[in-house]
Amino acid sequence: MATMQLDIVTPERKVYSEQVDMVIARAAEGEIGILPRHAPFISPLQVSAVKIKKDGEEFLVAVSGGFLEVHDNQVTLLAETAETPGEIDIDRAKAAKERAEQRLQEQKRDDIDFKRAQLSLQRAMVRMQVGGRNGE
Ligand code: ATP
Repeated sequence: MATMQLDIVTPERKVYSEQVDMVIARAAEGEIGILPRHAPFISPLQVSAVKIKKDGEEFLVAVSGGFLEVHDNQVTLLAETAETPGEIDIDRAKAAKERAEQRLQEQKRDDIDFKRAQLSLQRAMVRMQVGGRNGE
């Protein structure tokens, strides 16, 4: 079966680099499934769990914003942050989720703080999903 190269990198490190069968990621317009020999494509990447299919198995990686690029059978996710399931500290994500929820409930907040808290909540929920606790 045809495969393609997937690289997930952050400004700090290379998180994942393998030949894979399929990548499902949340791009600007919504979820996109990428198979080998996909047409060239570039898009912002949403805070989300990227699904990777390799050798008949599925694997999730948590990513925050960044970019997704496809060219020459190579998929590159340049993410602000990215973690594999084993790297995620669930308690830290849970604490971040609680802090963000608290901020969202506060009455005196401006739009910037609100947006920041929403993004922080999304990152925490995605980390909990990928790390194994389904956002609860
Ligand atoms: P926190 O408030 O817990 O720092 P955050 O969403 O503000 O969460 P980020 O700014 O997205 O954190 O990430 C900072 C660094 O910490 C990145 O390298 C990221 O991979 C790592 N990181 C954040 N949360 C976790 C977690 N729950 N488990 C493992 N690594 C994490």
